[in-house]
Amino acid sequence: MEISRKNKTHYLVTGAAGFIGSHLVEALLARGHKVLGIDDLSTGRMDNIRHLLSCGRFSFARSSILDPVVLDRLASKASIIVHLAAAVGVRLVVEQPARTIETNVLGTEAVLKAALRYGCRILIASSSEVYGKGNRIPFQEDDDVLLGPTYKARWGYAASKMLDEFMGFAYMREHGLEVVPVRLFNTVGPRQTGKYGMVIPNFVHQALHSEPLTVFGDGSQSRCFCYVGDVVEAMIRLSSHPDSPGRVYNIGSTDEISILSLAEKIIKATGSHSPIHLIPYDEAYSPGFEDMKRRVPDISRIHELVGWEPLVGIDEVIERVVTSYCR
Ligand code: UDP
Repeated sequence: MEISRKNKTHYLVTGAAGFIGSHLVEALLARGHKVLGIDDLSTGRMDNIRHLLSCGRFSFARSSILDPVVLDRLASKASIIVHLAAAVGVRLVVEQPARTIETNVLGTEAVLKAALRYGCRILIASSSEVYGKGNRIPFQEDDDVLLGPTYKARWGYAASKMLDEFMGFAYMREHGLEVVPVRLFNTVGPRQTGKYGMVIPNFVHQALHSEPLTVFGDGSQSRCFCYVGDVVEAMIRLSSHPDSPGRVYNIGSTDEISILSLAEKIIKATGSHSPIHLIPYDEAYSPGFEDMKRRVPDISRIHELVGWEPLVGIDEVIERVVTSYCR
């Protein structure tokens, strides 16, 4: 399939009003592309994209990707689909496991079928959750994966994202569709809400409201936080590179920080007097909840193909999030 390179490309972004989706739409419009967005606003918000609606190159449909008529109409006009619409956040995954699996699996199936009808290239947002309990650090795309038992909701989310990747590769193999699955690691920045449990917006909110920062477990677990602007840059580069289809790509920062140190940094950055409270996992989520101790991506594959690496460090990320809260 020929991806238009001379002319600006027509993108379809699912989950366009979400945290990552809205930043992606913004970046694509800034590069002169035409963008169609779809979002059912279940977790996305109009406030995230209101400032983009006046752009003549952007049109938005408030609809579920499971509405076949709307999805078909949008896909018929696109050459590249970036599929971000999905259940979001560990809290939602634990509290609504059926909705999570259905949204992820049925939604991706619908988008793949629409992409196939019109020969669109499709970039599928998968997740570092797919690495499950893997403990070979850093996580490399070809690693084996180890998930926990099926009665624990968290692993249902991981399995649904895995199935999305499997489906993508199956469509590529059987139908020649150009599919690019990407595994997003912890992504942060303005517009991310703490409502679904994400740690940085939670901590910033708590620090600015002089509430205790709730560190789950003993806080020694670590993560690498990547700025959303860096993440969307990675997705845009992969979406248009001729050789990206057919392989999975990690997208994330490699700068590791413990959650306790993160809490301390946020208290300092906000000048807050909030204390830190350690909350047992059983209390924070549900009895038997399993957290990942460490999560670090190997990003050599994406770096070698498109020269991408994250540019914004953790201190700058915190500063930008704090500033966005204070606006
Ligand atoms: N976490 C925390 N306090 C919070 C929210 C999250 O200590 O208020 C921890 C969580 O248990 C995990 C890490 O911060 O170890 C990152 O959580 P998040 O939900 O942001 O992303 P995850 O890496 O779990 O997908």
